[in-house]
Amino acid sequence: MATTPVQEATRLHAIFESCREITQDVEFSAAKQWLAEHPGRKAIGCFPIYCPVELIHACRMLPLGIIGAGNQIEITYADSRFQSFVCSIVKSTLELGFTKRLEFVEGMLFHNICDPARNLASVFIRNFPGMFVDYIHFPQNFASPLGMQYLQKEYRRILDALQERSGYKPTAEDLNRSIQLYNRIRAALRELYRLRSEKPHLISAAEQFLLTRAGTLMSPEKNVEMLEEVLAALPTRATRPKDRIRVVLEGSFCELPPVALIETIEEAGCYILDDDFLRGWRWFTQEVPIEANPLHALAESYSERAYYSGSKHDSREVKAAHLIKMAQDQKADAVVIMAAKFCEPALFDYALYRKALDDAKIPHLLLEFEEKTWIFDRARSEAETFVESLLFD
Ligand code: SF4
Repeated sequence: MATTPVQEATRLHAIFESCREITQDVEFSAAKQWLAEHPGRKAIGCFPIYCPVELIHACRMLPLGIIGAGNQIEITYADSRFQSFVCSIVKSTLELGFTKRLEFVEGMLFHNICDPARNLASVFIRNFPGMFVDYIHFPQNFASPLGMQYLQKEYRRILDALQERSGYKPTAEDLNRSIQLYNRIRAALRELYRLRSEKPHLISAAEQFLLTRAGTLMSPEKNVEMLEEVLAALPTRATRPKDRIRVVLEGSFCELPPVALIETIEEAGCYILDDDFLRGWRWFTQEVPIEANPLHALAESYSERAYYSGSKHDSREVKAAHLIKMAQDQKADAVVIMAAKFCEPALFDYALYRKALDDAKIPHLLLEFEEKTWIFDRARSEAETFVESLLFD
């Protein structure tokens, strides 16, 4: 029986609200439920960004986005391991460990995205001796083919370590099945972004953020079903366009802003047409090819088709050119740089972005945030003033 628009609206609302609950749940109930339903299986926590989740999934384990704790926990113990000028996500992720909330995961994967992330991996190894902790070194030189060959070997090393922990040795077919599943998730996310860019009244940036973040906290099989259900329902969603300026947002690729901050910017009069939230969980701009050597396909995709971010340094291209292109492709009126406090990769990039945006005469606004922020009055008034300056210029 066909569903009515009212039923579809109710269903969409229920999906977004359940995603909100999942993203705020620092007890990781959705993942624990999956583990209870799959006896003998294990979960591996993935710190941002660009984690090769296919390797974990092919070993029959659950890849889980351990991306800080938002504003849901107080930092009590982690402050003693890191300086006060380190970003919040590093401390809140460690606090999750100290408060025993990560005891249910078999291990954690980190990546060489910045010095604090590297140090966090070492602190985990020292403080949680029973936990499997590994650290992926991504190549820094993409101009040489050796970088990609090296990454393939790095993926092999990680896969070997994962299969030892899971007790299951995946075949090339297993890896390709996992790649196909994540290709479906990536395709659905790209389609959601395309739809939002064309008709931003159909889904807000905050709603899409909730969907993407909750997706990192559930099984990929459930995630893809949820995304495809939302995609099917959105085109007929009864929402009206609003009089807002068009912006693209950059700088939040690792530590996640509070969802209320994203809502605040939207309510201040902005349609956020594109962003880099959870870019490391969207990974690639195109599908990972299915080939006889899946590790080659993954390494080649990272080298050639990974979304750019503050943590990926590619000497073949000027990073600021991506941002200018994103703004121009979206016909954006302005750019909002929303960077986590003390995030060196994002804040170093801001210096480059600022000059490029000034040269291209694209108005821009810098907002710094911390994941544990509760009050957004200042951000609201800065965003409102910015919007008004563009509307009444
Ligand atoms: S928020 Fe920035 S500094 Fe902190 S771990 Fe992420 S990339 Fe590194």
